[in-house]
Amino acid sequence: MNALRRGFATFRTIGVRPLLSASPKARVGVALLCENAAGTDSETTEPKGRVPKEGEVLRKGDLYPDIGYQTSLQYMDSEAYRTAYGDDVVWRHYRRNFKGHYKPETRKTCIRGGVVSAGNPCPICRDEYLVIHYTNVKLLNQFISPYTGEILPSKITGICQKQLKGLRVAVQMAQDHGLIETAVPFKKYNYADYLDIKPS
Ligand SMILES: [Zn+2]
Repeated sequence: MNALRRGFATFRTIGVRPLLSASPKARVGVALLCENAAGTDSETTEPKGRVPKEGEVLRKGDLYPDIGYQTSLQYMDSEAYRTAYGDDVVWRHYRRNFKGHYKPETRKTCIRGGVVSAGNPCPICRDEYLVIHYTNVKLLNQFISPYTGEILPSKITGICQKQLKGLRVAVQMAQDHGLIETAVPFKKYNYADYLDIKPS
């Protein structure tokens, strides 16, 4: 966890922020979904929350900064990312607290009205520099099973339902753009069906 904190802090103090001024239309993916879910209220009313200081890890009640996907792409290749996660997938060391033996379904969302509403946000929401976008293939591949090519269940990865929804859209878009291979199930054909031999 210390490595994780150090990683976030390093990237924030480096301050790769000029790309944040990109037009809102350019930001697709989860950002778009969040806007649609929030409706028009988010435009008229300012979200209330504490503004996190530079180099500070996000906590419950903090305003969630809007990071563009271009910044996220830079982050995925940065030293800060390697310090935080190493060669592991981003959800490897995430732990949920639950009663009983069976894992419950993950929460609906970790961010409500632009403010962090969970004490233990999911692996994607806890790091504001991880933005789900169809060009962010390095991140998307971490949520895809190498054996089946399908998206891993949220009970395993621990991501909230809102991020899962965005992930499904992003993976589908990446497959449409040819950035991620589409999983084609192996099918055993009976070639005799195609032979032009009529039964006697
Ligand atoms: Zn979340």
